[in-house]
Amino acid sequence: MTGVWAEVVGQEAATAPLRAAAAHASAMTHAWLITGPPGSGRSQAARAFAAALQCARGGCGECRECTTALSGAHADVTVVATEKVTISIDEVRGLISVAQTSPSQGRWRVIIIEDADRMTERTSNVLLKSIEEPPPRTVWLLCAPSAEDVAVTIRSRCRIAHLRVPDPEVVARLLTERDGIDPELALECAHAAQSHIGIARRLARDPGARKRRDQVLALATEIRGVGDAVLAAADLVKVSEEDAAAATAERDAEERNELLRTLGADDGGRLPPALRAQVKQLEDDQKRRATRHKRDVLDRAIVDLMSFYRDVAIVQTGADVPLVNASHRGHIEQVARRGDMSDTVRVLDALALARERLAGNVAPLLAIEAMLIALRPRVRD
Ligand SMILES: [Zn+2]
Repeated sequence: MTGVWAEVVGQEAATAPLRAAAAHASAMTHAWLITGPPGSGRSQAARAFAAALQCARGGCGECRECTTALSGAHADVTVVATEKVTISIDEVRGLISVAQTSPSQGRWRVIIIEDADRMTERTSNVLLKSIEEPPPRTVWLLCAPSAEDVAVTIRSRCRIAHLRVPDPEVVARLLTERDGIDPELALECAHAAQSHIGIARRLARDPGARKRRDQVLALATEIRGVGDAVLAAADLVKVSEEDAAAATAERDAEERNELLRTLGADDGGRLPPALRAQVKQLEDDQKRRATRHKRDVLDRAIVDLMSFYRDVAIVQTGADVPLVNASHRGHIEQVARRGDMSDTVRVLDALALARERLAGNVAPLLAIEAMLIALRPRVRD
């Protein structure tokens, strides 16, 4: 595909209704739900659609309307990309008032909510009315992993475009053509990321990220007993904390200075009590963001281990399917030989349970310890 759709790779069928709506007014709908697994390009598809709606040539990818809509800088395209656990009811009220205004320059007023699954039922109900009867030039684009992640009242009023997991070959081609990555490395990273475009790109560009992933996969062969598991769990949690700290520290300080400037207070001086509450609110948000980042790093490690044991299962069943971790074939075969399918299933269950526990706010160290203990080779009697 060309123009603004060029980077929405492997989604020709899913994006056909969006492209048709941008081309013909009769195919237009005012509320869309774009679903697809993480990394399939939901937010990219939403931005491409917004650009196609604003562009006089239907999404050429070159004009100012296109480039600003794609980058999130278009005055009539509002993008909500929250890093918080939930989208607050006040944020949604703010969006609804934006939705009521006519586009200032573009042809449409477009509002993109990237993580519509992070709205509580109550918040969704506030949004409902605006989605049902939006002003004539307003379009809502909600994104979520699946339709079931969004309140039924909302999704029943949206047209759904369902993105699928793109083939690794398609992701690799994008990395090569857009980011100039060597084709062989691009394909290896696309497989390792299980076609998650953002993760594939990070792996391809950052040797440190590839090394950290290799270290996680090595746990499958390195853990021999409970002692190893406990030590490795402490390591993994520490790495996730450092990663979260590095990713958020600079931004936290910038945001704080910006807020103090807006409030008219210079850094260092005492804040009047009325302003302290706002600073406290920002700090709470930042703390939540760091926690989420830490959990995301751990979740990624679990997903990587799952892909390793999926490969083990493939070797054990002799299925003719490409391995996700082809460069680790030696270790995969070693683990496949030392156990049988029931062992592999048991480990996969333990990994799935750890993911659930992390999402359910169990202390990360406890969840990871229990999970890694399950990676020990079973003692046979
Ligand atoms: Zn254009």
